Order: sequence, then structure tokens, then C-alpha cells
Amino acid sequence: MACAAWLQPLSSSHALFPTLCRQPTFPAIFHRLTRFSSTVRLVSTMNRSTPVHAQAKRGFSVKEDEVATAADVEFETPLKIVEYPDPILRAKNKRIDSFDEKLKILVDEMFDIMYKTDGIGLSAPQVGINVQLMVFNPVGERGEGEEIVLVNPRVSRYSQKTRPFNEGCLSFPGIYADVVRPESVKIDARDINGARFTVNLSGLPARVFQHEFDHLQGILFFDRMSEGVLETVCAQLQALEKKYEDKTGLPSPERIQTRKRMKAATGFGKS
Ligand SMILES: [Zn+2]
Repeated sequence: MACAAWLQPLSSSHALFPTLCRQPTFPAIFHRLTRFSSTVRLVSTMNRSTPVHAQAKRGFSVKEDEVATAADVEFETPLKIVEYPDPILRAKNKRIDSFDEKLKILVDEMFDIMYKTDGIGLSAPQVGINVQLMVFNPVGERGEGEEIVLVNPRVSRYSQKTRPFNEGCLSFPGIYADVVRPESVKIDARDINGARFTVNLSGLPARVFQHEFDHLQGILFFDRMSEGVLETVCAQLQALEKKYEDKTGLPSPERIQTRKRMKAATGFGKS
């Protein structure tokens, strides 16, 4: 199984997280978010600590958030995955304040394509809809694990402790590389019905959340790779840029080759 949005084969995550426990991971509030009530699996945490290399934050400030209109959540089915370097992945994502039937249908469609593409998480911009919405299920199988829907999420706290994990992304087919992230986060969000809640995540759910949360800020996983790791996927990124140019007839809106990496701009700051 590929991980969310990405992620890499589950066998690899087993290697990194050798103890896959059947313990409740999410507080009660999360159970109300799910469509399927079933066992939640928690990935154990490791005691590997690496420093947070930057504190500044790239992305869009909360103050700039605009509210999505009905036109912003228009979509056609089946949904299609948007691939790098489509500028949709860098566009601003608007806040949702209409929790209607249309939003529920969109969420259903997002889960559908997530499972079909072997993902464990998916953000709305990845299906061409620039709004603050993500879905995930760390187990990645329909009817198993727990389906999580987060609307307008914000991070109120990141753990000091970080760890590397081999990530993939549905918008970067075939590309997998290590990304270092805080191992736990505290988040505020709304559920599919608009109810506010706060929750702490750690282990794989925290990893998936952070990857998807980055998408909502226009940040892509290679933005967070070290120079050395980025080098290992550079040719693959360039191949995607060429694929985009061949398909659209347009120049790639960004190029990994010429991009000046903005390390200070990809740290972990509160949103
Ligand atoms: Zn992704």
C-alpha cells in the first residue's frame, strides 16, 4: 500500500515503526468524525530526536484567509489527482464556512480516489479544489481504521522532538524520500458538520496530518527535504516538470534546478 497522499509502502512504515499497536489513538472527538467506527491502530513512536532546523514558516497567514464561495468547491467526478508542478498545488486555499451536502459529497469523492490510488491521506488542492480540507485514514483501507476529515485545520503546537520518515505523495508518483517532521502536533479544526475540536496526534497520524496540512499552505514535501535528500529525487522532479510541459504546452511554473531553496521559509511555525 502506498501511503497517503502518499506515502510509501506500508511494509516500509512497518520497518520504521516496528510496533503497530491496536491502541486507541484518537480522543473521543475523533470518533465522531468518522463514518466507520472501527479499531484505531496506533503507530508507536521512536525516541530519535533531530533538531528543528528552522523556525520560520512558509505559506499563507491566517489573516489572509478568504472564505470559499460555492464556485470554489465546484468539482467534477471522478476526481483527478493534480501532479507537480501544476500551480494549483501552490495556490492559496480558502477557508470553508459552508458545511452543506456538497461538502459531504466532496469528502466522499476524496476518500474514493484516495483508496483507489492507495493513499492514506489527501488534501483538497490535490484534486484541484483550493480549500482548507483534508481527509485521511492511516490504515488506508476502506472499512478499516478510521476516516478523518479536517476542515480549516490549524496547528497550535509542534513537539520539539522530530524524526525522519520515508514519505511519498500522490502528486509526485513514484517519488519517495525522507522528510524530517515533529513527531506530534496539537491541532484545532472543524469536523464535517462544522463543529470545532482540538486534538493531539502522534506517530503515523501526526505524520499524515502534517504532510496534508502542508498542502493546505502550498508547501510540498520536497520543500522540507534536506539538500542531500533532495538531490536523490532531483531527476525525478525534473521528469515531472517535463511531463507537465509536454502535456500542457506551457513552461513549468517552477523548476527544481533553478530554485533557491528557502530553508528559513519551511520551518514549523504555529499557524
Ligand atoms: Zn502530498
